[in-house]
Amino acid sequence: MSARALTLDGRRRYTRETVAFVPALRTEVSLRNDDAAPALVDALLGRELRLDPALAAVALAIDGRRDVDDVLAAACTAGLTRPLAVRGLRALLLLNVIEGAGDAVIASLRAFRDGLDLPRGRVLPEMRFECQGSGSCCQTLSLGPLDAADVERLAALDLSKSHPHLVGQSLTELHAHPDGRRAPYLRRVDGRCLLQLDDGRCGVHVHHGAAAKPLTCRLFPLEHVVRYDGVHVYDRGECSRFGASSKAGEPLARTPQRLLPLMAQTRRLDHPIVQLSPSYLADFGYYAPLVQSAVDECAADTLAAPEVLRALARRVAAFTGALDGLPLSPGAAGAALQHVLATPRARFYVPCRPENLVPGARALRAVAEALTVACDRVLEQIPEGHGQSWARDFARRLKPVLHVVRTLLAALLEPQSAPERIIDAGFLSADTPEAHDTLRRSLRQALFGRQALVDDRALPALLRLAFVQLVTVYAARHRDAGEASRASIGGLDEGHQLAVRALSLDPMRQVFIEAAEAAPAALEALPYVLRWR
Ligand code: SF4
Repeated sequence: MSARALTLDGRRRYTRETVAFVPALRTEVSLRNDDAAPALVDALLGRELRLDPALAAVALAIDGRRDVDDVLAAACTAGLTRPLAVRGLRALLLLNVIEGAGDAVIASLRAFRDGLDLPRGRVLPEMRFECQGSGSCCQTLSLGPLDAADVERLAALDLSKSHPHLVGQSLTELHAHPDGRRAPYLRRVDGRCLLQLDDGRCGVHVHHGAAAKPLTCRLFPLEHVVRYDGVHVYDRGECSRFGASSKAGEPLARTPQRLLPLMAQTRRLDHPIVQLSPSYLADFGYYAPLVQSAVDECAADTLAAPEVLRALARRVAAFTGALDGLPLSPGAAGAALQHVLATPRARFYVPCRPENLVPGARALRAVAEALTVACDRVLEQIPEGHGQSWARDFARRLKPVLHVVRTLLAALLEPQSAPERIIDAGFLSADTPEAHDTLRRSLRQALFGRQALVDDRALPALLRLAFVQLVTVYAARHRDAGEASRASIGGLDEGHQLAVRALSLDPMRQVFIEAAEAAPAALEALPYVLRWR
């Protein structure tokens, strides 16, 4: 039964509010209603969803016998208005807690639980990594946590020749995690790992072999995340030579043994409930295919990273926009998602309308200002010489780059008052093959990994990725200012590391979360600001 009608703007608009079906909670989901805060307990995903009174009234009305209209009527009897009851049932459908909703994703999750289809490792075919020996990671990264085997191996090292000054000293120190747990990390001396040699090389690697290093050092910069469609192994983009290291060496797809230590690590499934927009929470299974479309499009070197990111934001908006009037049925959200995914790509790649440029540039400028304040907060909160002084250093380096970004945005918004040279100097660097290549590979890895979400939120993550692009390019331009009109590859690498690291700090993430509603406008203007279409 079709309940939709097409409208002139191509969006689906629906003529019916419900489609006949009998809602029932999914087999693994039970309603716990034994205290003041009712909750849905999902045994499949091992999570509990606390319900507000409106959602609780709808969930209580679902008994597996009433049809959808009767469920809504029962929720209204319990005090809800009809629109609230409709929204409540739609929310439960989007969370895939109703039988039949998100069937394909639920089938994958069940297979994962049963071990019938243990997720296989997935890497992007072009993915490579080969250390370029800069030694920067041993100075700027968190040096742990170490596992018991790491600590044992380090304790067994004969340091009498390689590091005689460390004989008898502890190589590790305990750091507290936000959850209160304490874990061992390599000790830092003068801001760097105490095992690093003066020339920047790893002393353990040089004198005792690569296998003697802690696992975290051997795996850097690879990370993994367990998803319902497999274990995604990706480059977290923190190498200071990302432009070279991510293109060097054998493809990881051809050397799967390099992935084994990662695969042996935690197999905890990552399948959050995603804040897709200010109005909608949804099971991750509705967001993942949208992200995958962007990952696929990043592979085409005819598409620039800022445009791919904007297209992703537009697809998210198209999907959440379709949800507003979606008829209540288990398959409706999935069908709306398929409709967005099947919409010709060109529709999401049209240039920004001129009237959207100024609001977009204003939104970017407001976020750049808030990030500058967040930099000051980091500089105030982390004293000199603290174990996290690398965070201080990144915040200190980020500030002038944000100043460049703000200046350029001001020039774009008020060109009559901006000196010509500012506009020229600012925009020239971004549109080069090197910048294009770095940003495209960075975005593809970031989306394939964990960076499509910030604290389980989509829009803050897209905004953060927009700033990764801006900071990468303008940090390079800032470093190379006065030398040429093009940013050098070294400058892009430094800019990229600065962007990825600094914009992951908690105060910066908070800025993106608070600015989430500005993300769609900001992303509209991004390609223009970076001088792409
Ligand atoms: S053990 Fe080696 S690779 Fe690891 S942080 Fe120290 S110097 Fe760097």
